[in-house]
Amino acid sequence: MSKFARVSVNIAQITDVFDYAIPAEMEASVQPGSLVTVPFGRQLVQALVLSLLDAPSVPEVRAIEGLVDRAPVLTAAQMELAGWMADYYFSTLAENLDQMLPPGISQHADVLIRATANEPGPDLTPVQQRILKALGKQGVLRGRQLDAALPKTSWRESLPGLLKRGLATSEAVLLPPSVHPRTLRNASLLVSSESALEQINQNGRRSAAVKQRLSNAILVLAREDGPTDVSMLYAESGANTADLKTLADLGLVSIGESEVFRDPLAELKPVLQQAPRLTADQNAIWQKIAAQINGVAPAQNNLLVGVTGSGKTEIYLHAVQAALARGKGAIILVPEISLTPQTVRRFYARFPQKVGLIHSRLSPGERYDSWRRIRSGDLPVVVGARSALFAPLPNLGLIIIDECHDESYFQDDFRPHYSAVETAIAYARLMKIPLIMGSATPTVEQLYRARRESWQELHLAERIYAHQANQLVDGEPGTLPLPPVQIVDMREELKAGNRSVLSVPLKKALQETLDHNEQSILFLNRRGSATYVFCRDCGYVLRCPRCETQLTFHAASNDLQCHICNYHRKLPASCPQCSSKNIRQFGLGTESLEKQVVEQFPSARVLRWDADTARLKGAHDLILDHFTQHRADILIGTKMLAKGLDLPLVTLVGVILADVSLNLPDFHAPERTFQLLSQVAGRAGRSGRGGKAIFQTYHPENYAIQAASLHDFNGFYEQELDFRRKTVYPPFTQMIRFEFTHFQESVAAQAAQASAERFATWAELAGIKSMKMIGPVPCFYGKRNGQFRWHFILSGSAARDLLKQHPAETWRPHGVTVEITVDPPDLL
Ligand code: ADP
Ligand code: ZN
Ligand code: ZN
Repeated sequence: MSKFARVSVNIAQITDVFDYAIPAEMEASVQPGSLVTVPFGRQLVQALVLSLLDAPSVPEVRAIEGLVDRAPVLTAAQMELAGWMADYYFSTLAENLDQMLPPGISQHADVLIRATANEPGPDLTPVQQRILKALGKQGVLRGRQLDAALPKTSWRESLPGLLKRGLATSEAVLLPPSVHPRTLRNASLLVSSESALEQINQNGRRSAAVKQRLSNAILVLAREDGPTDVSMLYAESGANTADLKTLADLGLVSIGESEVFRDPLAELKPVLQQAPRLTADQNAIWQKIAAQINGVAPAQNNLLVGVTGSGKTEIYLHAVQAALARGKGAIILVPEISLTPQTVRRFYARFPQKVGLIHSRLSPGERYDSWRRIRSGDLPVVVGARSALFAPLPNLGLIIIDECHDESYFQDDFRPHYSAVETAIAYARLMKIPLIMGSATPTVEQLYRARRESWQELHLAERIYAHQANQLVDGEPGTLPLPPVQIVDMREELKAGNRSVLSVPLKKALQETLDHNEQSILFLNRRGSATYVFCRDCGYVLRCPRCETQLTFHAASNDLQCHICNYHRKLPASCPQCSSKNIRQFGLGTESLEKQVVEQFPSARVLRWDADTARLKGAHDLILDHFTQHRADILIGTKMLAKGLDLPLVTLVGVILADVSLNLPDFHAPERTFQLLSQVAGRAGRSGRGGKAIFQTYHPENYAIQAASLHDFNGFYEQELDFRRKTVYPPFTQMIRFEFTHFQESVAAQAAQASAERFATWAELAGIKSMKMIGPVPCFYGKRNGQFRWHFILSGSAARDLLKQHPAETWRPHGVTVEITVDPPDLL
């Protein structure tokens, strides 16, 4: 048996691995994937066992202290994947392993800081005074609590001074996991009810009331015949804890514990759903995927391209069914659970009792329980947002990514940064299992790679006519056309004297829809809307004279900025093209849109769906249900509307301003606009009632808007790819973003400039010509959480090599937070 283990300690910054001795009593239980506690320096920390060794790599090793969970918490494949992620994304193995653990079980070592009673002297630094003040209230805080209390200070650097002067003490702590299996107490009868009742009534010292309660309890237990939940026993019999103890002491009843799982799906009533017979188109695709799942053909990446409603989800369901039939599990990633309740319900209905749900709104207990049930093999189908990719399925056989173009698959808001799509591709390759990626609008990069790396590209061209049971044609459901899209030139509207946000054609269409007792959706793109400056008369947008990028408006400095080269200028008083004074930022919110719609359609029932109205748990579902049941006529919403909703009564979709997001200083802007418009338009006409969409715009000639209005995916793809090739943007290069944040703008700026200079010098010394640099410049979102943001972007394969040769220590300035993002999903 192995006596040593190589571990990765759960401290994000640590890049090394370490060897520890396994104490004799743990030899049988410590395995690769075990979560253990080990002494590390003066701390006790959690660590993951990567492998077992017969001999350590260093002569002196310390011993593992404890085992956090009896069973391994990660599979070998997961640990290998974490290694791949660390390498590809320039993050640490430890932080990648950590995020694969369910929250609650993983605990980071922390310090406990305590103020002493000593008098503080007069010469403390301001930060030291703030530390003492923060400690003052409770006297003691953990490091993480101090982080929260003093967010913008480098208190860790100021603490040693306080310790030295005896004003505070600090000790290392490791808290136990904050989640535990939940158990219920139950009681069972050990003897026959007759003999139990006899014994109770023999004893003369008990009062009649007690005897009555004890007898009742026995009768309930006899009736239940088996372990009975004690709270139910108390409720039914009137007995209490003391009574139960009496029964146990008499040897009449045994008290046990049983494990219960907190099930987030408990309230969903499964409506068992039969799989429909696939259409001929679906079947042709299905055969190609089935061969991979059944091991007849080699597993590969499958890119399933099909408009909304073309039957992609039905293919996913078939694939999961086939995997289950072979005793394998499946992971299905969806962009965001709360926005895709219909998809989730379909999986749940098709595979009752087999689906585990993983998403951010679960309580830690629910999450932990789902995680354990998945690990035990109890829930072989896992549906969830990007982190569901790390579900510990013991026998994973299939990965599905729905809406694979969606930005939410990139973890950009916190560390470690990764794309769940890219990581799933690596995972599937490592496990040799099929991967299905589906979308109506895959990204340009995905389609380009599919063709270059010969993934299996599969197309579903037509919408299924699903909302009429009797629409069978030759035993198959019929098909539906995509809704026609009308482009309305808002410059013409203004010329005709219409100053409202609703054009005449849109107003007319809304009225007609109301008259027919059908529903409409109005879509408002909020992204970038506050900074979008253009001329209302001619549509003119100000561009940077140096790099052609559209300039964005910054309210704080009241000027326009270029986010590629840092060019600044004042907002002009009149339009340089037509001299109109009507040049200003757009900045329309959902609330004021709602007000205007209500004013113009006083009899319509208007419902607003945005981040404000959907803040509460379950609000998304509520709003959707409300609308689906036709208790509102017009739904006003933001990007949530673009997700996979199936709303049969909607016959009109109006896009208030199609060009808003085109203005963002990011090369993805045309693609994102195209995707969004295609998806939003796709909400109309999902039943035999027909339907149409209206795009209002100041740039009717723009290729993204044109292509979306014609549902011309291929045309858009060709044009966009051409543009990327000419400008050398991904997929023709790889980008790495370096982001510097600090609460003082000058510090962030200097840090970005100093680091950028280093990379430029290294590239020059190595004679690298192919590397390009954007910046350093302030980011588009120049301030986030009170921190100023600067960045520069390196592109070209040489950038990767350069970063490999020059780890962060050699270029990262002190005291500034630096984030590296490989393949950044946006440059904002
Ligand atoms: P997508 O995932 O591409 O949006 P879906 O799989 O949700 O498409 O299919 C759209 C609609 O058509 C759904 O209501 C679905 O139940 C129905 N549907 C899909 N395939 C079939 C089929 N073979 N026979 C009958 N109805 C189907
Ligand atoms: Zn103008
Ligand atoms: Zn510029």
